[in-house]
Amino acid sequence: MAPHLRILPNDDSNRTLVENVHPADWVNPEPARCYNLVVIGAGTAGLVCAAGAAALGAKVALIERHLMGGDCLNYGCVPSKGIIRASRAISEARKGSEFGLHGMGHLSIDFGVAMERMRRIRAEISPNDSARRFRDELGVDLFFGNGSFTGPDSIEVEGKRLRFKRAAVCTGARAAAPPIPGIEEMGYLSNETVFSLTELPPRLAVIGGGPIGCELAQAFARLGSKVTILEYGSRLLPREDADAAAIVQQAMVRDGVELCLDARITGTAKRGADKLISVEHGGKRLELAVDEILVGVGRAPNLQGLDLEAAGIDYDPQLGIKVDDRLQSSNPKVFAAGDICFPFKFTHTTDALARILIANALFLGRQKSSALTIPWCTYTDPEVAHVGMYEADARARGIETITLTVPLSAVDRALLDGEAEGFARVHLKKGSDRILGGTIVARHAGEMINELSLAITNGLGLAAIGRTIHPYPTQAEAIRKLADAYNRTRLTPLVRKVLGAWLRWQRC
Ligand SMILES: Cc1cc2nc3c(=O)[nH]c(=O)nc-3n(C[C@H](O)[C@H](O)[C@H](O)COP(=O)(O)OP(=O)(O)OC[C@H]3O[C@@H](n4cnc5c(N)ncnc54)[C@H](O)[C@@H]3O)c2cc1C
Repeated sequence: MAPHLRILPNDDSNRTLVENVHPADWVNPEPARCYNLVVIGAGTAGLVCAAGAAALGAKVALIERHLMGGDCLNYGCVPSKGIIRASRAISEARKGSEFGLHGMGHLSIDFGVAMERMRRIRAEISPNDSARRFRDELGVDLFFGNGSFTGPDSIEVEGKRLRFKRAAVCTGARAAAPPIPGIEEMGYLSNETVFSLTELPPRLAVIGGGPIGCELAQAFARLGSKVTILEYGSRLLPREDADAAAIVQQAMVRDGVELCLDARITGTAKRGADKLISVEHGGKRLELAVDEILVGVGRAPNLQGLDLEAAGIDYDPQLGIKVDDRLQSSNPKVFAAGDICFPFKFTHTTDALARILIANALFLGRQKSSALTIPWCTYTDPEVAHVGMYEADARARGIETITLTVPLSAVDRALLDGEAEGFARVHLKKGSDRILGGTIVARHAGEMINELSLAITNGLGLAAIGRTIHPYPTQAEAIRKLADAYNRTRLTPLVRKVLGAWLRWQRC
């Protein structure tokens, strides 16, 4: 195995992973005369483009310079949810006495075992994204190496020239470097290195209170690190409703996460083994000493090495490749999908964009990315999931709304589960049951949001949800209760008067 492809730690699981997603003995094929589609980048976007196009009969080449599966499998969703699961088990055990489980005060946490479990499951998932599957089962010509444009209809990889009718740039994004003096020299963890840890950092600073920062801060705190979040803004999860973010914030504080909001980091330095962070906070200057720093301050597009100028493809260094609503770039033969071009950087969005790309690039489709209804979820405990518009979005578009909120404390199952912190909320177009958007804060909000997504995508109103029987007791009843709340808004004094008169007349 080439040394640059050793994923640390070099154990059986990681060797299996690499054997699947970048085999050491791989020999690039001889290129075909011309491809229907050449895809650069084999993360979610590239894999879905390549697999989908090949299944429809296209001659497809796929180029990957590092690991197939990209961020999601190797450095993102999969490993993060693996360790979040371990941290939840620990949190559950800590709450054991509430359920009559004693002795949990003396828990000993083996971080190494939790990480090993994550690596094992990641390796188990990896055959789906594997080089052999794409070559042998899907018939894709797979090339390992850096893909770069050499002209408007050609790409070079490892000295081989690939000609195309259409190309898809699916090169994703990476952790943006923080503009903090001294941090590069001192070294820090990003999503590309944090999942290689085998020992728990006793003190961890997490820079950035967005979804990635919050998920990992809470997980590491539960696994035993003393975690401090340093956030520039005045609250965590700035995109979410303030009361939703406040619930997560409280839960994190309970888990021992220290919050340093409105923080201005002015510098970093090393003192012995300590990493020192200088912070201005609330008019004071603080110095925080930690063992590791994890940075999650946004994503930067992977543009380097593509030579986009050679193909006349416009881009923005911060935002990535410029595409129109149909995902076409300034070069009409070249399209893009995923984190390289889209503001909503999620695996499921990327998957949906890749499907649009196939239709538009290969089959004269006219599908629009703006037509997608995109849900998302931050996998803290409790989770925060959202779909559609926020109230402010509706206001900005001049749409009058009514907002309904059901607290989880009104839902029997949430009480029984000891998970009553949170709520389900919808924004309706005023005077109708049309759902414009919704937010759910709940232990499994990511599962619950699908009902609202289904309704929005298919034009089903909240009344349709009200007519749908939900099993009792489930936390999803919170959503049916929203429909009950909507029905109550329809019970105007006039309707009540008419119904009362009818019932009086019915009485003998
Ligand atoms: C810590 C973390 C947790 C996350 N959790 C979630 C989650 O729970 N749910 C969710 O929906 N999303 C999550 N995401 C986001 C999700 O991982 C991304 O949205 C998704 O992976 C984007 O896929 P992509 O194909 O656009 O890009 P990537 O996955 O980044 O793939 C791009 C690929 O292109 C390759 N490449 C780049 N340049 C070249 C080149 N010139 N030549 C050849 N190859 C090249 C790269 O090596 C890479 O393999 C998470 C992200 C992170 C960082």
